[in-house]
Amino acid sequence: MEFFNRLGEKAKVIGERAKEATRKPTELVEVTRLKYEVSKLQKVTKNNIEAIGELVYRQFKGELNLEAEIERLLQATKNIEAEIVSLEQEIERLQPKPLVCPRCDIELPSGGIFCHRCGIKVAIDKEPEEQEKTEGAAEPVIEQEEIK
Ligand SMILES: [Zn+2]
Repeated sequence: MEFFNRLGEKAKVIGERAKEATRKPTELVEVTRLKYEVSKLQKVTKNNIEAIGELVYRQFKGELNLEAEIERLLQATKNIEAEIVSLEQEIERLQPKPLVCPRCDIELPSGGIFCHRCGIKVAIDKEPEEQEKTEGAAEPVIEQEEIK
């Protein structure tokens, strides 16, 4: 009898492990790939903006015929930014951020309305806090003259 009980227990543990292991490994791989892609594009953006800055400065100092290259880089950088946004949306879709109680700062199981520790109602549309502190301050201002 005991043997069967233990066997049942073991089977259950294995079952749970299997469930965990099949927690969409391909999605995790995909998220990792997308994150890598985003960081690559962020570097390209940074380099482009540096290059734009240099070109604008050279133009300011009197060098001619730089407009086309500046325009090309501005446009390319804007496109890359849009691509980063769509990649980040894809990451978000594959790996939704866990709900975090604003008071206890603990992760909550998805779908919950109340924090299981303190009991406060957890806002559903909580803003992602991380995005603001990384970006924003260091954003270079590029004067873009529209030629019409
Ligand atoms: Zn709480």
